[in-house]
Amino acid sequence: MHIEFSGAAREVTGSCHILHVNGQRILLDCGLFQGRREQSREKNRKLPLPVNKIDAVLLSHAHIDHAGRLPFLVAQGYTGSIWTTSATRDLCAVMLADSANIQQRDVEYLERRGRPYSPPLYSLADAMQAVDQMIGVPYNRWLDVLPGVRALYTDAGHILGSASIVIEAKEGSHTHRVVFSGDIGRDDQPIIRDPDPPHGGADTVIMESTYGNRDHESVDGAREQLARVIRETAARGGRVLIPAFALGRTQEVVYDLHALWRADRIPEIPVFVDSPLALDATSVFALHANIFDRSEALIRETANPLEFPLVRFTRSVEESKQLNHRHGPMVIVAASGMAESGRILHHLRNGASDPRNTILMVGFAAENTLARRIVEKQPVLRVFGDEVQLAAQVEVLNGYSAHGDRTEMRSWLDAVRSEGVKARREIQRVHLVHGEASAQDAFAASLREGGYNVDAPESGDTRPV
Ligand SMILES: [Zn+2]
Ligand SMILES: [Zn+2]
Repeated sequence: MHIEFSGAAREVTGSCHILHVNGQRILLDCGLFQGRREQSREKNRKLPLPVNKIDAVLLSHAHIDHAGRLPFLVAQGYTGSIWTTSATRDLCAVMLADSANIQQRDVEYLERRGRPYSPPLYSLADAMQAVDQMIGVPYNRWLDVLPGVRALYTDAGHILGSASIVIEAKEGSHTHRVVFSGDIGRDDQPIIRDPDPPHGGADTVIMESTYGNRDHESVDGAREQLARVIRETAARGGRVLIPAFALGRTQEVVYDLHALWRADRIPEIPVFVDSPLALDATSVFALHANIFDRSEALIRETANPLEFPLVRFTRSVEESKQLNHRHGPMVIVAASGMAESGRILHHLRNGASDPRNTILMVGFAAENTLARRIVEKQPVLRVFGDEVQLAAQVEVLNGYSAHGDRTEMRSWLDAVRSEGVKARREIQRVHLVHGEASAQDAFAASLREGGYNVDAPESGDTRPV
């Protein structure tokens, strides 16, 4: 048995690894490479192996950098099963459809500008076909995925439905065990349960390392600051504009606003979630209350933690435009998180120059994005080609993250190791994936100090199990 590393090797996006077992091949994730358009387009069109050589796919969660190439796999002729949790399957119906639409619009944009373009990677029909091939499974139950190979999903605590996957394979008289971490979340995130490190040990761990070189601020601190920003902005009669990813961050912010409102910690001002994708993703949450974190009072005591009297979800363009004409303080949560597309751009164009308003940054702001320019408080922003003076207050909350920091990832791995000691199966190798080289190198060094045998494979490398 061996592992071949393909995507998210010495980088963050394009998660994809191949397990070779008894002449069978299993894909772990099949994510989209994201980044510079030309470079990622080329990488996305190159599958790591011909589709007729793939026997099964195991998917960790619905983020596009993990699931986003599955429709392409299907378009190329893959007809086999894609195993994942039920919530991930439902979220993929929303996220992959959106991904297909973004690609279609991208091609139309290039066409209009007379720039060279190639057809979209896949169509909406391909996205739906990929969802059709997904088998939704519960957590903590062994599944026979191929002859001699079984898998079990545990909660990774990262986003709704996210999983770490244990793969057990028989070769001759020996049973090998691989644990694939997926993206590891953090303790005390709203709605989502804490990460549940798999029991029973592992010979090999394939592990993410996104924040291998940093620690986050606390989750509680983020909610406190959210309350303060809303009180201060409402007192000025301004708007709080929050660019947020439609899946994950939007629901966390709505949940926190609900909790703050119930505790009488924020004024009674309307909250608009102005994103059709966020509305669709939020609807999926309502179907999977069985995997919410029941230790939270808001979840035990309310029928739907994402619904409360102040919040309105807007779908139509007309409803969205009407927000421009409303007076008085309000909160607007809209995609995209990096403020590179989506309805947040309209709200920023209208609201960034008003000193009563606050732009509240709750997510990662990559270089060369409008979000980053806002975080840097550049005096003039470019939005839809217009110059907009930045006179609104800018606040940055670092406590919101769906990824564990280096301390949380380490305690996840230590838990897998100590469970393994009980089961007499000790970790032989840890392979770091899904991280920039600097984060991986720092994390690898600290794991070595803890006695782990660890490396960070390049794309194309193989390792025995
Ligand atoms: Zn993720
Ligand atoms: Zn990821």
